[in-house]
Amino acid sequence: MAEFERVVLSGTPNERGIEHGERFAEEVAANVETYRERFAHEGVDVDAMRDHAAEYVDYIERESPAYAAEMRGIAEGSGVPLADVTMLNVRWEVIYPAWKARTEAADESEAGSGHDATPEVERSPTVDGCTSFGVMPSATADGTTYMGQNWDWLAPIVDTLFLMELRREDAPDVLAMTEAGIVGGKIGVNEHGIGIAVNGLISGGDGTEEFRKPYHVRFREVLDAERYDDALRPILETDRVCSANVLVGHADGELIDLEAAPELVNPIYPDGGVLTHSNHFETDAVESVNERRGPSTLYRAERLRRLLTADAAGTGDSDGSGVDTASIRGALRDHFGRPSSICSHVDESLPTVEHGQTNASLVIDLQERRILGQRGPPCEGEYHEYAL
Ligand SMILES: [Zn+2]
Repeated sequence: MAEFERVVLSGTPNERGIEHGERFAEEVAANVETYRERFAHEGVDVDAMRDHAAEYVDYIERESPAYAAEMRGIAEGSGVPLADVTMLNVRWEVIYPAWKARTEAADESEAGSGHDATPEVERSPTVDGCTSFGVMPSATADGTTYMGQNWDWLAPIVDTLFLMELRREDAPDVLAMTEAGIVGGKIGVNEHGIGIAVNGLISGGDGTEEFRKPYHVRFREVLDAERYDDALRPILETDRVCSANVLVGHADGELIDLEAAPELVNPIYPDGGVLTHSNHFETDAVESVNERRGPSTLYRAERLRRLLTADAAGTGDSDGSGVDTASIRGALRDHFGRPSSICSHVDESLPTVEHGQTNASLVIDLQERRILGQRGPPCEGEYHEYAL
């Protein structure tokens, strides 16, 4: 599909935000509209969700003044109200309480009408799908540590993604993909060789609390770290509103996947030098919910693991030299189960508002601090190279 636009953000947090907002004013507004439309389609009270997001401004101000300043800058630069920009930045945190309210309202009206209660399968919001991976030096052809993912989400978002290059005096330089309007950065690498990839996860207890440090603030903190333990800390140190999966890697050959639920985190380590994850909990400490809505999660991570492990071992179609960027790209183009495949495509049988696909495919070479990737499904087009 398309290359990423790459934008250098420098100066104070507020100046970085203003640059981001001015450059992507239309895209920030479009993202607000896309999310409002999608959540309204699912029966969520989007105005109540926006009010909840507005209350998060002061909370973020306390947790991370720099993040709040960058968010205010985006609002200022784009002309999009701060409440809406904040809604983008805390969308994972505000959707769960909004969903609970929706379900309770539905239950009350059904109780009044004598119908059965809402089926359990409907009691979860839609979250970002994704298939992520990491490969240790022992399994790669060139001894490099690779990580990355296909990031699967609402189709219109593909047009608002960009690569931000943070150039900062007081924190590490960073290259990371983000959605227009979101400060944090989702998938990327910093100058110290610390990388992050993220997947949506849902557990039974999500949304019980209304205010906890938002995940996108934590993602920025991971990329602000100079040391690996400090990169893990933001995900671990405080409880969360909801669940998410976060893969954190280090250029010197370390990968840990963190399955985070509101009150616990399960670490998962590479097996045979390969680590993969999709959108269900692989450990059974909490109730895993997402596979009810998206069963493909049960095979996407497993297939990616098998494909990469075969490359690592030199079996199957592999040339025997180990995992390299070509074999990773081949694995990320897998179409088993299409359209709900690792390389995910729009299911045309669904209404347009529900269309989703792989919006970005990214391979991070942690040693070289470079990203190979593209917007859109990786079977359509070529990877481009972006070095920090
Ligand atoms: Zn494809």
